[in-house]
Amino acid sequence: MLGKLTGFDDTIVAVATAPGIGAIAVIRLSGPKAYDISNSLFPAKNLHQQASHTLHFGALTAGGKVIDEVVLSLYKGPRSYTGEDVIEISCHGSPYIQQQIIDATVQAGARLAKPGEFTQRAFLNGKLDLTQAESVADLIASNSAASHQTAMQQMRGGFSRELHALREQLITFSALIELELDFSQEDVEFADRTRLYALVTEATTVLRHLIESFRMGNVIKNGVNTAIVGKPNAGKSTLLNTLLNENRAIVSDIAGTTRDTIEEVLNIDGIMFRLIDTAGIRESNDTIESIGVQKTMEKIKEAGVVVYLFDVNELTATDIRNQIAAFEADGINYLLAGNKTDIAGEAAIRAKFEGIPDILFLSAKKHDHIQELKDTLVHKVIAGDINTEDTIITNARHHAALQEVLQSLQEVKAGMDNGLPGDLLSLDIRRSLHYLGEITGEVTNEDRLDYIFSKFCIGK
Ligand code: GDP
Repeated sequence: MLGKLTGFDDTIVAVATAPGIGAIAVIRLSGPKAYDISNSLFPAKNLHQQASHTLHFGALTAGGKVIDEVVLSLYKGPRSYTGEDVIEISCHGSPYIQQQIIDATVQAGARLAKPGEFTQRAFLNGKLDLTQAESVADLIASNSAASHQTAMQQMRGGFSRELHALREQLITFSALIELELDFSQEDVEFADRTRLYALVTEATTVLRHLIESFRMGNVIKNGVNTAIVGKPNAGKSTLLNTLLNENRAIVSDIAGTTRDTIEEVLNIDGIMFRLIDTAGIRESNDTIESIGVQKTMEKIKEAGVVVYLFDVNELTATDIRNQIAAFEADGINYLLAGNKTDIAGEAAIRAKFEGIPDILFLSAKKHDHIQELKDTLVHKVIAGDINTEDTIITNARHHAALQEVLQSLQEVKAGMDNGLPGDLLSLDIRRSLHYLGEITGEVTNEDRLDYIFSKFCIGK
C-alpha cells in the first residue's frame, strides 16, 4: 500500500507540551531505539525489563551529570500512540532542562521529529486512518464546544465508519457489475439493474448529505464572519457591548482569520461569530444609502451573516422594505433587528412595522430579547440544530474528494440511464472508490502525506 517514508526507521524526539516555562514538560520518544536511548540516560533501572504502561521515577543523567528528576512512561509497541515503542519523559518545565534532555537523546541516537510525525507514524502503522489523524490536528485546534465535538467524533471514527459503509456499498455494486461481465457470453442478466440503480441512488444521497454538511462544518471549525451594521445611533455599540459582556470568546488564533480586520469574537452555542470591522459604516456619514457604497458593501459581502440594526423610532416601514430589497438583491444573509423598543413600547412598534416578516424587536440597552437575537443568529448560519452525532465534514480535502466521488457516481447513474455497458460503468465505480480511498488514506502518496502532516505542530 504505502512506500516506506524516509527516516521511518529513526527514533524521533520532540517536546510534546507547549513551548515555554511550565510546571511540567513532556518529551516524547518514538521508534525502535526509544528504550535503548532512555536506558542510556536513566541509570536507576533497566527499562527493557519493565512492563509496558508503567511509570518510573528517577534521575535523568547525561555525561555523568544529573539533568533532572523525571518520570518515564513506557509504552511498548504496538500498544502506543504511534504503534512503535514510545517513552514519554515528564520533566520539570524549564526550557533549559527540556533542551538538555532533547540534546541528550539526540546524542544518544534520536532525531528531532518533524511536525506531525508522531501522528504520521500512527497513521502508517494503521493506528488511525487519515481522517482520524487529521482530526487530531483539529482537536488540538478546537476552541469551542462544537468544534471540539466534531473533531472528537471524527477522531473516534465517526466519519470513517460512514465512508466505510459507503465503500462497502460501492464494492458490492462493482462486484455485481463485474459478475455480470463474467456471464455476458451466456446472455444472462445476472446483476439486477434495478438493484444496482437503487444502490447508486442511495450512495449519492449519502454523499450529498456529507458534502452539504461541509457548510456547517466550516462554520463550526472556522466560525462565521459577522457584521453589525446600521445608521449612526442605531445602537450598534450598545448591542455589541451587551453581546460581548455575555459571550466574549477566548480566542488565540482562529484559522482563516485576518487578525487586523477582526474586532471581537462571540461564542454563541459553540459557534464562533467573528465580528468583522465595519468601522467604515459606523464612522462615515453613513445613512442607509451609504451602505450601497462600494467599500462598505464589500465588507458586508465578506460576512456570513449581517445584523442590520435600526432605531424603530427613527425609521419607517418603507425604509426597512427598501433595506430588505437591497440585501436581497445582493444575496446577503441578513437579520433585521429593530432596536429601542423600550421607548414607544413593543406593541406600538409591532403595529408600525406590521406586514414585514422576521423583524426581531429588541432593546440593546435594556437587554430585552437578546437571547432571541442569539438564537436567530445561530439559525441564520446553520440549518437546524447541530447534531454532533451526525457526521459533519470540516476538512476541505475531504470535501473536494467527496465531490469527485459524487461526480463519478453521477456518471454511473447517467451511464445506466443511457444503457452504457457494464465494463464502462465499472470504470466510473473504480474512480469513485479511488477517491474514497484518498480520504481515508488507503490510496495516497508520500508528498500528499508530508503535506497533510506538515500542518501539525511539532511533538504531535
Ligand atoms: P451606534 O452609533 O449605532 O453605535 O449607537 P450607540 O450604541 O452609540 O447608541 C446610540 C444611543 O442610543 C446611545 O445613547 C445609547 O445609549 C442609545 N441606545 C442604544 N440602545 C438603546 C435601547 O435599546 N433603548 C434606548 N432607549 N436607547 C438605546
